[in-house]
Amino acid sequence: MSSFSTLSSLGPVRAGHQIDTHKLEAYLRQQLPALFNGVPPSSLGVKQFSHGQSNPTFLVTVGQTKLVLRKKPPGKLLASAHAVDREYRVLAALSPSGFPVPRAVHLCAGDEPLGTPFYLMECAEGRVFLDPNLPELAPQQRGAVYRHMAQVLARLHSLDPAGLGLAPGYGNPDHYCARQLRRWSEQYRASVPAPMPEVLRLMDWLGAHVPPGDARPARPAVVHGDYRLDNIVFASPSEAGGAQPLQSFTPLAVLDWELSTLGNPWADVAYNCLPYHLPPHITVLQRLRRGAEGGGGAGALPAGVPSEQEYLGWYCAAAGVSPPPADDWAFYLALSLFRLLAILAGVQARAKQGNASSANAARVASDEVLRALAESALAIIARAEAATAAGSSSSSSSSCGSSSGSGSSGCACRNPACTCDREGRPAGGPGRQCSCTGCSKGTPASQPSAAAATAATAATAAAAGGLLGLSPRAAELRSRLAAFMAEHVYPAEEALEERAMGPESTRWTIHPLMEELKAKAKKAGLWNLWLPAAIAANLGWLRDELLASAPAPAASSSAVSAAEREAAAADAGVLLGAGLTNLDYGHLCELMGRSAWAPEVFNCSAPDTGNMEVLAKYGTREQQRTWLLPLLRGAIRSCFAMTEKAVASSDATNITATIARSPCGGFYTLSGVKWWTSGACDPRCAVAIFMGKTDTAAAPHKQQSMVLVPMDAPGVKVVRPMLVFGYDDAPHGHAEVHFTDVRVPASHLILGEGRGFEIAQGRLGPGRLHHCMRLVGAGERAMELMAKRGVERRVFGGPLAAQGAFRATLAKCRIDVDGARLLVLAAADALDRHGFKGAAAAIGAAKVAAPNAVLRVLDAAIQAHGGAGVSQDFVLARLWTAARTLRIADGPDEVHLGTIAKLEMKRQGLLPAASAGAGGKPRSKL
Ligand SMILES: Cc1cc2nc3c(=O)[nH]c(=O)nc-3n(C[C@H](O)[C@H](O)[C@H](O)COP(=O)(O)OP(=O)(O)OC[C@H]3O[C@@H](n4cnc5c(N)ncnc54)[C@H](O)[C@@H]3O)c2cc1C
Repeated sequence: MSSFSTLSSLGPVRAGHQIDTHKLEAYLRQQLPALFNGVPPSSLGVKQFSHGQSNPTFLVTVGQTKLVLRKKPPGKLLASAHAVDREYRVLAALSPSGFPVPRAVHLCAGDEPLGTPFYLMECAEGRVFLDPNLPELAPQQRGAVYRHMAQVLARLHSLDPAGLGLAPGYGNPDHYCARQLRRWSEQYRASVPAPMPEVLRLMDWLGAHVPPGDARPARPAVVHGDYRLDNIVFASPSEAGGAQPLQSFTPLAVLDWELSTLGNPWADVAYNCLPYHLPPHITVLQRLRRGAEGGGGAGALPAGVPSEQEYLGWYCAAAGVSPPPADDWAFYLALSLFRLLAILAGVQARAKQGNASSANAARVASDEVLRALAESALAIIARAEAATAAGSSSSSSSSCGSSSGSGSSGCACRNPACTCDREGRPAGGPGRQCSCTGCSKGTPASQPSAAAATAATAATAAAAGGLLGLSPRAAELRSRLAAFMAEHVYPAEEALEERAMGPESTRWTIHPLMEELKAKAKKAGLWNLWLPAAIAANLGWLRDELLASAPAPAASSSAVSAAEREAAAADAGVLLGAGLTNLDYGHLCELMGRSAWAPEVFNCSAPDTGNMEVLAKYGTREQQRTWLLPLLRGAIRSCFAMTEKAVASSDATNITATIARSPCGGFYTLSGVKWWTSGACDPRCAVAIFMGKTDTAAAPHKQQSMVLVPMDAPGVKVVRPMLVFGYDDAPHGHAEVHFTDVRVPASHLILGEGRGFEIAQGRLGPGRLHHCMRLVGAGERAMELMAKRGVERRVFGGPLAAQGAFRATLAKCRIDVDGARLLVLAAADALDRHGFKGAAAAIGAAKVAAPNAVLRVLDAAIQAHGGAGVSQDFVLARLWTAARTLRIADGPDEVHLGTIAKLEMKRQGLLPAASAGAGGKPRSKL
């Protein structure tokens, strides 16, 4: 059956969906008495529609009146799904505007009389086309159906939500796609026992590639959310299509508004275009057939059915807009496939419970179907990447899939609406401008989602082994992290950056947005992910104490405010991270490295992570209670004061700061001039770990100790922030700090006198590898910006990306980034398996390789941007300076190379083991 008249799909009410007609009649007689005028008792009839997988739908007859009843399905339901009250609201709002919807008649929001809420609407009698190939229609009629479908959608998107009474209150159009991604990701996970790897990859890519325009859509609109051919009732009442006039194919009513809200209309349009992209071998989905099936020759659609490009053109003409850039279109399509997949996963879950509203639910929503949908989305992404990699010189493929190429005219921007020729000359001759979004609007490169428009890297990295060793748990966290970054972190970057580069009076203060983001990340369980399970295992008592400080309301003292109690209870849940390995965290940390602000949002930033690690490993319980707990909660920040202005501090035996124990032994007095103390300018910085000498007569590596110094202790003076290539990195800063006769209780000593070197070694483990992990993320972001620039920027009559030199450089960047990633992950894995000592060579290699590789990539990306690359308009200059410092700040390259060489010599038996450690002198046998 390829089409049906609405009333022909009626059947008896299915098992599990029974309706108590007596109760319903009694209720309706009370609510809608006019409906029953002259109608004898017990004459209400109920039948069930077979079409539709979500809300069960029934025909209710009262005398001659036919009404349609939609209700929530019975059984356990996913949160926020099946909101029939919202359906009713949107129908009631749209119908007075003349938009084709059935008139809303009555809403019952309570559970009586049917056990779930329901609503009634008028019955639209007409024809529903199930098969998008429209086999029973003549070519002209097919065209009419598609044209009407596009125009009705454009009309919906042109309506003013506020004028309809739907704004505010019916949804928030900002960040629609990012929210959709989160919502369907959650629902997918809630529906399946274990997520499929293909779906995890897809979610991951989507999270990293939300188009920048989604943050605040240019056209906020009522979106239908499930706009498909088979959700439209057409006027044509007859079975045969042959002789009917084209007016018969006017839409009478658009149905099934369950997923409607206010949002980004492109998501609706892409969803509507899915039949062009549904997996060809899954016959259970209604897709568009091509080739012989369509009767139009290889690759052709059925005669009269428009190509996707034509269809988009009809929509755009009716809505008065240009199509989105081709790469954004790939995102919208992939998101739409993912939504369909997630919806079907919900249908599958209900089928397993026996609650599906359609008899063939298990078949339509099988695992095979879900996997095929994910693969189709990944194929669209791969095509978009290939198109980007091939540069604009190729016009054979675009993110719109095989049915549409680059801009119909062949312009480098690959925007389907572009009217420029292959050389980028606007149609209409000199002096004319092309108004398509691809040519005229560069997206600000400081937004990673703009970089994402090149669609080139994340999936490539995955394909190249970038997700090597990722556990299912971390994969799940990674996709949530990516979605969180897209929804919350990238959009906040501009505001945070503005404050940090603003006037002196505010630049050293914390933007309230940062604390808001931290609270959100905590709530989302994306907190302290850096904390390895092995270290967290020893801190259970700290969490228990925190929980104990947050007793149930009845038991608590009045001194503990309700807000504090709630915060403590919430923090306890995420205090000890997610129990990840260093290898797992490597994949997550890389994502955070894409944004300078992200690590702090997730409480994963330096120097706090290294300091927390020191306290977790070597601190006393009292030290952990006083300093580690607030650090883990993100309530304070910290700094690490080792490097001194006066001496070469890459050799820590040189340091001259002193830590003197009082004769009574009750306190220490410390003095020294430190600089490059990162984070010391941050107003939240409450404590420093200070390294100095307690015994200058001891062996060189036993002279040093570390003590905890409250930043407000008398004698601590933050003198100035150091500049890094002119940046002061406000509001954290890298400060020169003078410690002058600062007194701290003896209990502030960490681990013991003379054990400072030992602690420093431990601190140089995971905490230091995090920098490398983040660098890989920065490299990916630089590559995305570079590829996008190459496609958009025209030099000497063609796009930059068409130049062989550009391509060779881009390819080398890929090799650099993937190579660095593999070394970093190998080091993290070695750390998990063999501890810091066993992993020393691998960590040294990663620390040298990552900054050097990523610097080459950043340099190439800057070069491709020309002057813009070194300017404040792109994130590249900032990323470059940060990467450059890491060849020094994380220990100079030469020191790591020395360690690697020593260990290599030792491995080959050419060096005694004792001389291979830090500070050992090589005694070569050569
Ligand atoms: C942005 C930034 C943030 C920092 N944050 C902190 C912080 O929070 N806390 C802190 O204590 N310090 C911090 N530092 C300081 C950093 O750790 C030191 O700069 C680093 O250890 C090098 O010490 P130095 O600057 O004294 O250089 P020196 O020790 O003087 O070394 C100078 C150069 O000598 C060469 N060299 C050194 N050793 C060898 C060798 N064995 N073989 C061959 N050549 C060698 C290298 O080229 C090296 O770059 C930070 C630095 C920067 C730039």
